[in-house]
Amino acid sequence: MPPEAAPPVRLRRRAHIPPNPSATPGNPDDTVAAIRRLDAKTQARLESLGVHTVRDLLYMLPRTHDDRADIASIADLYAGGVFTLEGALADLRSATVGQRRLPLVEAALRDDTGTVELQWFGQAHLTRTLRVGSRLVVTGKAEAKQGRLVISPSEYEIITNRDRQPPLNTGRIVPVYRLTQGMTARSLRSLTWQAIVGFLKAVAETLPADALRRTGLPPLQDAIRDAHYPADSAAADRGRRRLAFDEILAFQLAILGRRRHRERNAAGVPVKYHDATVRGFLDSLPFTPTGAQMRCVDEILADIARGAPPMSRLLQGEVGSGKTLVALAAVLAVMSSGHQSALMAPTEVLAEQHFATVGRLLDSLEQPLQQDNMLSVYLPGRPRPFTVGLLTGSSRARARRETLRMASEGHLDLLVGTHALIQDGVALPNLVLAITDEQHRFGVAQRTALRGQGAEQPHSLMMSATPIPRTLQLTLYGDLDISTIDELPPGRREILTRIVPQDKRRAAYGFLRQQVAAGRQAFIICPLVEESDKLDVRAAVAEHQRLSAEVFPDLRVGLLHGRLSSRDKDKVMRRFRDGELDILVATAVVEVGIDVPNATVMLIDGADRFGLSQLHQFRGRVGRGSHRSYCLLMSESESERARERLAALEATRDGFKLAEIDLQMRHEGDIFGTSQSGDQTVLRIANLFDQDLMALARAEAAQIIETDPELAAPQHADIAAARDRFLQRVQAQISD
Ligand code: ADP
Ligand code: MG
Repeated sequence: MPPEAAPPVRLRRRAHIPPNPSATPGNPDDTVAAIRRLDAKTQARLESLGVHTVRDLLYMLPRTHDDRADIASIADLYAGGVFTLEGALADLRSATVGQRRLPLVEAALRDDTGTVELQWFGQAHLTRTLRVGSRLVVTGKAEAKQGRLVISPSEYEIITNRDRQPPLNTGRIVPVYRLTQGMTARSLRSLTWQAIVGFLKAVAETLPADALRRTGLPPLQDAIRDAHYPADSAAADRGRRRLAFDEILAFQLAILGRRRHRERNAAGVPVKYHDATVRGFLDSLPFTPTGAQMRCVDEILADIARGAPPMSRLLQGEVGSGKTLVALAAVLAVMSSGHQSALMAPTEVLAEQHFATVGRLLDSLEQPLQQDNMLSVYLPGRPRPFTVGLLTGSSRARARRETLRMASEGHLDLLVGTHALIQDGVALPNLVLAITDEQHRFGVAQRTALRGQGAEQPHSLMMSATPIPRTLQLTLYGDLDISTIDELPPGRREILTRIVPQDKRRAAYGFLRQQVAAGRQAFIICPLVEESDKLDVRAAVAEHQRLSAEVFPDLRVGLLHGRLSSRDKDKVMRRFRDGELDILVATAVVEVGIDVPNATVMLIDGADRFGLSQLHQFRGRVGRGSHRSYCLLMSESESERARERLAALEATRDGFKLAEIDLQMRHEGDIFGTSQSGDQTVLRIANLFDQDLMALARAEAAQIIETDPELAAPQHADIAAARDRFLQRVQAQISD
C-alpha cells in the first residue's frame, strides 16, 4: 500500500502484442525438436512432462496469468510496492558481496520521470547480456536501502526488436506455467511463444462452422493463442473455455461412440437363470434387502437375461449400502444358468474382504463349507453346490493350483481376487459376468483383460462407493447404465462428526487414547500437502514419526502411504485389521473400501484441504461394527468457507448431497479423491465444475453422433482426429 500522503502511481498500459503466426507454419504434429534452437536436454524434460509434439506444447496451458502490462512511472515508486517499469539502462556495474562473494550486478533504470537503482544478486551472466542504453522492462518490489529506492527484479526483459520478439516475461499479461525441474519460467514462455509463432497457423479448426456459431466459442487458433498470451483476462478465459469444451467433446464422442458400437455390434450371452435360486438366496438372508438393493438386482437381472448387448453397468452406492449382496444375487443367477463370474478388487485386503462378505451372506444356506481359499454351499433347488474361490498374489501354491484347476474345469462359479485374476494361467471358460470393485482404480486395459478371460463378451458390472452428482454421471459415465443404491440398511448408527478447533488438538488426542484404552482402534489422516504424492508421503512419514515418538509413544502406530508397494500396503492394512496396530496414520490412500469393525475414530488433520466427498469416504471407514464411532475434523483454516463446508459434513451423512455441495462450492479437492490426479487426469483443461460447458459439449456430441456416428463425414475429419488424439492419451483411464 502506498503511504497515505503519496500521490497515486501513474500507470501506462503497455500495448498488447499478440504472437504473430508465420505464413508458412511447421507441422504441429512434429516433435518439439522442430522448434528452433531446442536442445536435447530441453526435449527430454518436455518428454517427461508428457509433451512430445508441438501440439502438446500448444495445449500445455498456463496455471494462471499475471498482469504485468501496467507500466508505472519511476517518479511514483514507493517502498513496499511491486511495480513493472520500462526504461533505459543508464549505468552498469558488477561487484561481489559478502564472504561468499556473491556476484552482484547493479544498474540504474531511467524513464521520463526519474531514475531508480536495480540490483540482481547471483546472476553474473547479466553483465554479458545487459548493455548501457538497453531498453528494459522489469518487475520487482521497491525497497528502501540507505535512503534510496532499489528494485531487485523478479522478472526482466530486454527489448531488442519489438516486432520480432516483444517482452514475454513482463510488460504484458504473462502466462504462469507449472514449473518443473530444470525448466525456468522464462524458458517455458519462450517455448510456447515459439510454438505459437511457428506452428499455430497449421492447427486445423476442429469444430464445423455451425457448431462454432451455436456455441459462441472462439475459433481454435485464437483460443490457443489467447489461452497463453491474451490481450486481457476475458480473452484468456474465452480461450481456455474453448479448449475445455473441445476436451469434453472429444471425451463425449469417445464414450458415446463406444456405447453405440457396443449396442450395435457386441453380442453377449443371454443368461437364462432360475428365479427361484436367486429368490431363495434373498429369502435366506437374516435381514430384508432394502428396496434400493432389490431394484438394482432387478435392473441387473434384466440386463443379463437380455444378453445383447452385453451389460455395461455401474452399481454405485455408498459405503455400507450393501453392494456385495446385489452383486452376489447376479452371480447366483449366472451360476444357476451354468456360467461363471469373476470379481476383481484393487487390493488383496479388499479381495479377502469380499470373499468373507460373500461367505457371511451365504451363511444361512444349507451346509456351508468355508476354507481359506474356497467356500461352497448348497442353494435351494441346485444339485451341485455353489463354489467360490479366492485368488490373490499371496495365495499359497497348492491352493492356487487347486483354484485354477477348478476354475478352468468350470467347477468354480465365482472367482474373487486381485489383479491375479488377469494373469496368465487363469482360465474361466464359462465366464459371463465380470465384476470390478472400485472400478475407477482399474485401467480400461485391466478390465478388458478380465472380460477377455471368458470365451464370449461377458457382462460387465462395475461397483463404486464414490457418489457422483447426476450431472457429472452423464458426462463421465455416459456410456454406462447406472444402478444406484440410494438407501442404507435400516438401523445404521450415525457417526458422530465434530469439527475440532486447533486449540483442542490435545483433547482430541486424549479422546483417541481413551478409545484405544477401551480396546478400539483409530485412523489419523494427514493433511494434504499439495497435489503431490511425494510431498504428502514425506509429510506423513514425519507425522507418523511425531505421533509415535511424542504423542503416543506407548501405543502401536502404523503408517500407510501411497509410495508403499501394494504388498506393503496390504501388510499394514492386514496388521491394522487384525488388531496388531492401535492407530493407523495414513495419507488419502486409505480411502477405498476397507472394513475394520473395531475402528471407531477417524481423525482427519487439515480437514479443510480435502473435498467433502473425500472426507465422507474417510468417515465411512469407521462405524462398521457395533461400537459408537466418531469422525473428528481438525482444521487450522480460519476461513468462513472452510467452516461452512465442514459444517455441512457435520450436518449430513448423505454422500450424494455432499458431492453436490462440493460441486456447488467448486472445491478443488477432487470428486474422485486422488485416483485421477496428476498424470492420470482424464480431463486436463476442463474441470468438473464447468457444468454449463459440460452440458454444451454433451449436446454437441449427441448431435454429431446422431448425424454421423462414425465421424466419417469430411466436415468431421478434424474432430475425429481430435477424438483419436484424446483417446490415445487416456486409453488406460476412461471407463469402458
Ligand atoms: P458396500 O456397499 O460398502 O460394499 P457391503 O456389501 O460390504 O457394503 O455390505 C456391508 C454390510 O452390510 C455387510 O456385512 C452386509 O452383510 C450388510 N448388509 C447388506 N445389505 C443389508 C441389509 N439390507 N440389511 C442389513 N445389512 C445388510
Ligand atoms: Mg464393498
